[in-house]
Amino acid sequence: MKVSRDISNKQFDSKVRGQMSGEIGEFAKNFNYMIDTINFTIRDITDKNTQLKSIMQSVSHGILAIDTRGKILLINDLAKKMVEGDSYVTAEGKNIRQFIKNELILESVLHNMCSEHSTIIQKNIKNDIIYKIKIDPVHFEDTDAVIGFIINIENITEYAKLENMRKEFVANVSHELKTPITSIQGFIETLKMTDNLDEDTKNRFLTIIENEATRLTRLIDDILLLSTIENKTKKKVEKVDLFEVFEEVHEVINYIAKKKNIKVKYDFENKDIDLWEYSGYIRQILLNIISNAIKYTGENGKVSIKQYIKSEKVFIEVKDNGIGIPEEDIERIFERFYRVDKARSRSVGGTGLGLAITKHMVKALNGNIRVESELGVGSKFIIELPFNQEFAQKAS
Ligand code: ADP
Repeated sequence: MKVSRDISNKQFDSKVRGQMSGEIGEFAKNFNYMIDTINFTIRDITDKNTQLKSIMQSVSHGILAIDTRGKILLINDLAKKMVEGDSYVTAEGKNIRQFIKNELILESVLHNMCSEHSTIIQKNIKNDIIYKIKIDPVHFEDTDAVIGFIINIENITEYAKLENMRKEFVANVSHELKTPITSIQGFIETLKMTDNLDEDTKNRFLTIIENEATRLTRLIDDILLLSTIENKTKKKVEKVDLFEVFEEVHEVINYIAKKKNIKVKYDFENKDIDLWEYSGYIRQILLNIISNAIKYTGENGKVSIKQYIKSEKVFIEVKDNGIGIPEEDIERIFERFYRVDKARSRSVGGTGLGLAITKHMVKALNGNIRVESELGVGSKFIIELPFNQEFAQKAS
């Protein structure tokens, strides 16, 4: 009798003991065997349940299983958080109408609970957070009968942002490439169609075609450069003498500066600084920032470059007394193709990619870049590069 009481109390380790013979003995043996089987089956189910729960918790999406009426059968912690359910109550057994506090998610699920097919919904939940909600019906064995739903909620904010950026970039690139191509086609057409064009006009058209072709080349070079920097493949790491790199750049820059009668002054606190970098990055950074200073400064202007060491970092400041940048544009000038004045940038041979490339490169070297500027007064770009022992070890 005690054994049957134990079994009713879920104590499956209880056994019928004692020496019994005949039918009673056979019954006791079978009874004990039955207890063992039940015990084993329960342990197996408990293990599987624990496994299932662990899997549910380790999934990086919110997962929710409900029956056709909306009763929650299973839910992982992430889903509880995403649907803004009360974390102190047991969700299993509750109806989603009571548990899901996020109206948009609840509405999406309720709206699609009658469907026999999978549904995917993308929702802007709040503060630009985007969730992808996938609702899959669960069928009873091989029949058409739906017995519940599995709801999979994924935070795709980052992915959506990248996708938008990619689309925007492709649209921008197409637009930027189209403008010079249209212009080249137009002038070639005119040259072909017009007889007796005087030599001067012909030469003027050819110069425009040449300039547009140069612009296309520059644009393609910059796009390729940007894509190389973004490429995660290993790049050559090397140690360079900062002042030597600067002198090289200075030579190139001086040539352009002279054409506008701009004085380029420099003052290096320490000329013996070696830096670890990805091959060519520091040269490109200096070239972009200093050539911008010249591009956006009027004739007879001044550009000064200062180098100093502070808190174990090398600072390079490039200051000009040029056109300056309006306050509302300062935040955006490092974006791809962002230009304060498109026509002006174009007329000085800009592609709108220089600062985006520069920022990427500075970041890749664990550095920082910022700008201080006043409209009509001038701009100061401040580049900060650490002595990158750590970077060198990581990158090599
Ligand atoms: P761009 O090829 O047009 O020069 P950049 O990415 O190098 O493209 O610069 C983006 C924009 O930032 C420029 O179009 C210009 O409006 C502004 N800018 C950059 N450097 C300066 C500067 N030194 N002075 C004023 N404006 C600048």
